[in-house]
Amino acid sequence: MVKNFILWFILIMITMSIFQNFNFTHSHNYQVNYSTFLSEVNQNKIREVILDGHNIRVTKKNNSKYVTFLPINDPNLLKTLLKKNIEIIGIKPYQMNFFLSTIISWFPMILLFLMWIFFIKQIQMGGKGAFSFGKSKAKFLKENEIKINFSDVAGCNEAKEEVKELVDYLISPKKFQKIGGKIPKGILMIGPPGTGKTLLAKAIAGEAKVPYFTISGSDFVEMFVGVGASRVRDMFSNSRKLAPCIIFIDEIDAVGRKRGTGLGGGNDEREQTLNQILVEMDGFDRNQGVIVIAATNRPDVLDPALLRPGRFDRQVFVPLPDIKGREEILKVHSKKVLLEKDFNPLIIARGTPGFSGADLSNLVNEAALFAVRHNRSLVTMEDFEQAKDKIMMGSERKSMIMTEIQKEATAYHEAGHAIVGRLVPEHDPIHKVTIIPRGRALGVTFFFPTEDYLSINKQKLESQISTLYGGRLAEEIIYGKEYVSTGASNDIKVATNLARNMVTQWGFSKKLGPLLYLKEEEEMFLGKSFQKNLNCSNSTAKIIDQEIKFFIDNNYNRAKKILKSNIDILHSMKNALIKYETINSDQIDALMKRKKI
Ligand code: ADP
Ligand code: MG
Ligand code: ZN
Repeated sequence: MVKNFILWFILIMITMSIFQNFNFTHSHNYQVNYSTFLSEVNQNKIREVILDGHNIRVTKKNNSKYVTFLPINDPNLLKTLLKKNIEIIGIKPYQMNFFLSTIISWFPMILLFLMWIFFIKQIQMGGKGAFSFGKSKAKFLKENEIKINFSDVAGCNEAKEEVKELVDYLISPKKFQKIGGKIPKGILMIGPPGTGKTLLAKAIAGEAKVPYFTISGSDFVEMFVGVGASRVRDMFSNSRKLAPCIIFIDEIDAVGRKRGTGLGGGNDEREQTLNQILVEMDGFDRNQGVIVIAATNRPDVLDPALLRPGRFDRQVFVPLPDIKGREEILKVHSKKVLLEKDFNPLIIARGTPGFSGADLSNLVNEAALFAVRHNRSLVTMEDFEQAKDKIMMGSERKSMIMTEIQKEATAYHEAGHAIVGRLVPEHDPIHKVTIIPRGRALGVTFFFPTEDYLSINKQKLESQISTLYGGRLAEEIIYGKEYVSTGASNDIKVATNLARNMVTQWGFSKKLGPLLYLKEEEEMFLGKSFQKNLNCSNSTAKIIDQEIKFFIDNNYNRAKKILKSNIDILHSMKNALIKYETINSDQIDALMKRKKI
């Protein structure tokens, strides 16, 4: 502020003094030819001239004024003027005072110099306001500002166990130092997005009651080269003053990608930042009490140098939660809302395979919103059910108008999925079937896995393929091949991918055997990975295609057989769907037993 004021003040002073020194005479602004002037001299019309170099300011006897300019040095002019008795006035040559003229001639240089100093200072020491490039963007939380502890992180007990040791160390580093124990300098948390890595890092600080610096990898990367590195330096030097403490670098893959795999300047900046992180981590002593935690969901792209001993040598895996984990996370988050008595987190957990902690937190929130929308004061299981469907499938599009024909076709289609799904071996139970359009789908059949699968066997995969074709087949059987809608395009895509993976990756083909027919995904420049290529000869590629077709044909025909021999159930389920729009597993059970509902 003060700096700015002084700058403006100086600028104004300089301009004012310049204008004062050039004492312009505005009255002589009317311009006349030199020859006209001479003829007027001869006609005795002129009273006075002011000679100012080549400028001649003329005052006529009638007091009008003008200027004229000498075209060449006219040696006779003075004589003529004297002869005509015209008053001749000279002008004192203009001389700026020395100080001012120096400032003016050096002004641009000085300005540049000042700006240069200013920027250098900003970059080196950081500052406030818009120009704080070099300053660490790290957010800083004092030990008593962290309200999160281990009880807020649920469903990743192994990860929690692993980091407990750090908490003990941060609480009493002396004890560890005495024994000579080595505490890792850097911990890398690896896990899919939303599994609670950021949360866990904060909880460590909260448990140990130590200061917590946090910065995201992308904060390092800025337009100006060198800024990232200076931010790293800044953050580490700040943290050392407050040890024991935690530095948390979120999304480290933004700066920590393998070096030398990019084009252009932005990459240089990243490399410099990464180098600086490595230098800082090597530079501090294990027992200084600074623990660096980094998080990423792309460990595969990280520079190997980061993972060397003495850097991020300890890795903690934070996986997607399993059923038990999801139940626990739901318990943590549902504490924040008012619940109906029948709340059962296990049921919700069972229906949300693949949900991350962040998804579950969102689910609780959506459920609360549904409760509000229905004017309820407590959140019910029904709200959770709706929230779950919304998150998984997009919102219901009740307003979308389906013609009666479309509705019937959709009902047959979904019923086809459901019936085949019920009758093939090892298939997940069917949870409900609906013909209310959702997102881009016209209808949905929900399956309900009883457990989380780490691996799936061949029989189950084949059953899935059959079920996927159930929808299209039902339409085909009822309306004939020519009238099948395009609604099955996604089913076909999923089924084909399953069959392809069975053949090329999972080794389920008898002819091809358990070989991998895929090239590993390669990290190419610009961080873009190119499509996987088949890693085989042409003749093998042909066999692969045949085998995929074989799996698909088999299961397609099986589904067809199932539907044809249960066509009465297909009709009754279609009727039920048109009547109720959504039917649940009990209703499906009844229909499968050929009971009326
Ligand atoms: P990540 O850093 O792994 O992408 P976050 O830690 O940012 O995920 O998680 C986002 C939010 O999701 C958290 O603030 C929390 O509300 C919720 N969450 C995620 N994982 C968990 C968990 N294991 N326990 C409780 N809440 C979780
Ligand atoms: Mg995160
Ligand atoms: Zn379908």
